[in-house]
Amino acid sequence: MALKYVYFFGGGQADGKADMKNLLGGKGANLAEMTSIGLPVPPGFTISTEVCTEFYKNNRTHPASLAAEVSANLKKIEDLMGKKFGDPANPLLLSVRSGARASMPGMMDTVLNLGLNDTTVKGIVAQSGDERFAYDAYRRFVQMYADVVLGMNKDTLDHLLEQKKEERDVHFDTDLTAGDWKDLVGQYKAAIKAELDIDFPEDPQEQLWGAINAVFGSWMNQRAITYRKLNNIPAEWGTAVNVQGMVFGNMGNDCATGVAFTRDPSTGENYFYGEFLVNAQGEDVVAGIRTPQPINRAKDNGNGDLPSMEEVMPECYQQLVQIREILEQHYKDMQDIEFTIEKGVLYMLQTRNGKRTAPASIKIAVDMVNEGLIDKKTAVLRVAPSQLDQLLHPTLDPHAKKTVIAKGLPASPGAVSGEVVFCADEAEAEAKTGRKVILVRIETSPEDIHGMHAAQGILTARGGMTSHAAVVARGMGKCCVAGCGEIKVDYTNESFTTVTGQVVKKGDLITLDGSKGEVMLGVVPTVSVQLTGDFAKLMGWVDEFRTMKIRANADTPHDARVARDFGAEGIGLCRTEHMFFDAERIAAVREMILSDELEGRERALAKILPMQTSDFIGIFKEMKGLPVTIRLLDPPLHEFLPQNEKDIEELSKTMKVPVKTLKYTVESLHEFNPMLGHRGCRLGITFPEIYDMQVRAIMTAACELVKNEGFSIVPEIMIPLIATVKELSVLKQNAVAICEEVIAAYGVKMEYLIGTMIELPRAALTADEIATEAEFFSFGTNDLTQTTFGLSRDDAGKFLPFYIDNGIMDEDPFVTLDQAGVGQLVKIACEKGRSTRPNIKLGICGEHGGNPASVIFCHKAGLNYASCSPFRVPIARLAAAHAALS
Ligand code: ADP
Ligand code: MG
Ligand code: MG
Repeated sequence: MALKYVYFFGGGQADGKADMKNLLGGKGANLAEMTSIGLPVPPGFTISTEVCTEFYKNNRTHPASLAAEVSANLKKIEDLMGKKFGDPANPLLLSVRSGARASMPGMMDTVLNLGLNDTTVKGIVAQSGDERFAYDAYRRFVQMYADVVLGMNKDTLDHLLEQKKEERDVHFDTDLTAGDWKDLVGQYKAAIKAELDIDFPEDPQEQLWGAINAVFGSWMNQRAITYRKLNNIPAEWGTAVNVQGMVFGNMGNDCATGVAFTRDPSTGENYFYGEFLVNAQGEDVVAGIRTPQPINRAKDNGNGDLPSMEEVMPECYQQLVQIREILEQHYKDMQDIEFTIEKGVLYMLQTRNGKRTAPASIKIAVDMVNEGLIDKKTAVLRVAPSQLDQLLHPTLDPHAKKTVIAKGLPASPGAVSGEVVFCADEAEAEAKTGRKVILVRIETSPEDIHGMHAAQGILTARGGMTSHAAVVARGMGKCCVAGCGEIKVDYTNESFTTVTGQVVKKGDLITLDGSKGEVMLGVVPTVSVQLTGDFAKLMGWVDEFRTMKIRANADTPHDARVARDFGAEGIGLCRTEHMFFDAERIAAVREMILSDELEGRERALAKILPMQTSDFIGIFKEMKGLPVTIRLLDPPLHEFLPQNEKDIEELSKTMKVPVKTLKYTVESLHEFNPMLGHRGCRLGITFPEIYDMQVRAIMTAACELVKNEGFSIVPEIMIPLIATVKELSVLKQNAVAICEEVIAAYGVKMEYLIGTMIELPRAALTADEIATEAEFFSFGTNDLTQTTFGLSRDDAGKFLPFYIDNGIMDEDPFVTLDQAGVGQLVKIACEKGRSTRPNIKLGICGEHGGNPASVIFCHKAGLNYASCSPFRVPIARLAAAHAALS
């Protein structure tokens, strides 16, 4: 038997089901599922993703058996709908829809009304008794087919339509007559002939295969490729094609089309949220041509004065409410649906798990547990760690002064400021130079994705809450104000004008509040968020499932407090060099560096000692006995000295050291490769008094609190950049001597740990030797990545982006831990370390600690904790729970 490539759905039965997304794409699988659970879905069939794979394997041809399968399934649609494809009297019209495993806005647009030609259009006229409708459908078909299948320039046909309206002196499409549409069909076809030198295909079969092949072809178009790259979708997946009988939302005022979410995708609130348009077809709702109406009055959506579906079409609305119930009970998740009403009869055209903002994601997960729809584990797995980032973003300071210049729809929350730009390419270019920009468009389309990605936020003049800009921004977690009809965008002069006549030009600073839909002039200050309510509840569940601990990297008492508020269970990395840069101390630090005698250095260090001690007291206090790992001085000393002439002169005055001497010191400290130079434990070995002072400060701080305030503290002293066990044994001996001396002086009992960072390949490879001395390892994966790849992060900007764009590297190894190389060193070091010290404490610090994929890797490698920046702690906690649950 030949392989099955085509899957039918219709008449209450379907070949496919929801869990066949890999084969049928998301749209096809859910159309099948909705059909089998008894929802009203126009019949159709899905050509599987395997055909797409074959298509590219076999030089854009199809399996031999496909044509026969397609016609057999087409016959089934004809039978169920009582119409025939291409029949002059009673023609069946089709929609051809793409549909990959994951929803992909970069793909081919849907072709509606396929099967129309000069003959069948007359059949539609006879059947519907509505000539205007028939020719409107026809011109829409020619327009869509020309655009998405033939690749005709869209503007040419749009221009003809505009010309027609001008000629007839009308403003809206709805004012054009049957005759006008008929004219336009002719003009469109002539324009296609003139521009592409092809006759528009009259044969419905040719139209059908043209559209099918265009869907498969669009899998490899630039937009789709870009989208896949941004969203890590493999090219091998392929797309399915859905061919479906048409139903019409544009046959009069008892017809409509709409989109809805079973819960509010912006806030997560449990009410039915959607928009629709009477007498409209396809994507009119999202295209922003007419302002859509709300489906109910549950909330003011910003289009409040328009009548709702509940009011105009109460019966269909009630049926839709029931379907909402059925879908949520069935899928146990918030659904994003598309529907059409033809002459009072409701049809479902799509359902999928709805994209939602981070706050909505959390609220829906928690609510659904409370409603008994899902369990806690499912709730935790439903919130993507990376999505939390959005929640942890600041909102506008409620007390800040702001000048609101326009109001639009609150399409995607957050508060951002930036310079105005008007095109996606420019947004991308500006962002590359490190600028913050706001992309302002009349409306966005899939061609703008890269610019939306690069911008801080997006502002559009047209389109509703379900417009392209709104949906994509929510998916990206980007702030977006959509449908801001109060501004007039002028691309030519690169400016927009508000209702009050205020002109905002390219480069001007504005602020967007995506939660309120407000546009403000200038930069409005922001505040960080409150992590209570549903968030706290969900994070509580997260901590029930998580087994790996999460710490934070924090250098100050303030950061330590933030870290604890975000749920950090300790500090994994407290850097001490930042303390050296403090205005008060830098003088003493420089004095130390400039003295060439031990005595002089010790004198200077004695000045720093009390300050460092008070730093550590502050941090230990904030952490209330939770573990704190303190790293001894790491950067090369030249970083503490001024580098330019003017600063050197100034320093020479304040320090009363001749300029010449100063310059000599600066020069002598100069290094060719500071990253690989005289830093870390190498400083500790050559200037032991520096580390001695730091260890004394740490221990004094801890003893003070233990003795006087009843704390229990186990300080963790971390020595950076160890390459050989000998370095560590020397430095450990020094440290232990100081520790014991301080403890004895205070007369307290205190444990402490001395460990090292593993950030050099040699350390990882000899971790068994190093563990004979080290009581803990902390993987410094930033330096370990630099030293493993042999590249400097500060210089990598010149080639790394090129590597990633050209697929030489999949991801930036400084963002996502390189598991194959760096990860292997981590694994080796863990194994070797445990072989000589079975209970050695293992952790990771550095940027990777807050990257979800890297956290999952750390969990698998058996690390005790991961440490990341305070704001990423909740992300790391959630990622660790995901790792434990999967
Ligand atoms: P997308 O992937 O962009 O959502 P769809 O395939 O869902 O594209 O099609 C877009 C719109 O076209 C749908 O929301 C619906 O309004 C309209 N449409 C698709 N198929 C049909 C059909 N069989 N009958 C009527 N309208 C349809
Ligand atoms: Mg589309
Ligand atoms: Mg759709």
